[in-house]
Amino acid sequence: MKFTPEQYVIADEAQKPYIDTEEIWSFLNNAKPTKERVEEIINKSLNKNRLNMEEVATLIQADEPYQIEMIKNAAKQLKEKVYGKRIVLFAPLYVGNLCMNNCEYCGFKSSNKETVRKTLTKEELISSVEALEENGHKRLILVYGEHKKYSPEYIAETVKTVYGVKTKNGEIRRVNINAAPLSIEGFKTVKEAGI
Ligand code: SF4
Repeated sequence: MKFTPEQYVIADEAQKPYIDTEEIWSFLNNAKPTKERVEEIINKSLNKNRLNMEEVATLIQADEPYQIEMIKNAAKQLKEKVYGKRIVLFAPLYVGNLCMNNCEYCGFKSSNKETVRKTLTKEELISSVEALEENGHKRLILVYGEHKKYSPEYIAETVKTVYGVKTKNGEIRRVNINAAPLSIEGFKTVKEAGI
């Protein structure tokens, strides 16, 4: 399925801010969470279709107890449809904390001048993975800030490095990434690395 992103006030371009606060408030303030509309949006979601901003705003504004119950039940149903009844644990491995964004809640934010900025060298990445494998980990999520240095090619390279590390305890079977939004080409690049 090809991803066709919604178009909003600010065009979504890599490495550029794209959130228009007024636009978000406008969706929230104009949302009309009628019973029919909420059901319609829930059904769309249960069919695994991506919701747009207006639809998400409508669910956020739905505050009747029966609506909240419907949303919670649908979320549970969808979760079980996609993941089944299982819990997967994985270890985070911070590859680098350079970031050009400034999210209020995050220690990586660019306005945080007190933090030490660090990107693991290949040797440091390998020794970190060895330590995780020695502790029995099989699944990792590699974490990167949003920064030009962490291009899809760079991410793919680090993913390959991780898969290549083997110790007496075995190897990492599954690598996920927590990184900046990627273009379709970017996704192809990281997919080829085996995420
Ligand atoms: S690392 Fe992610 S959450 Fe933290 S400031 Fe950068 S973009 Fe925001």
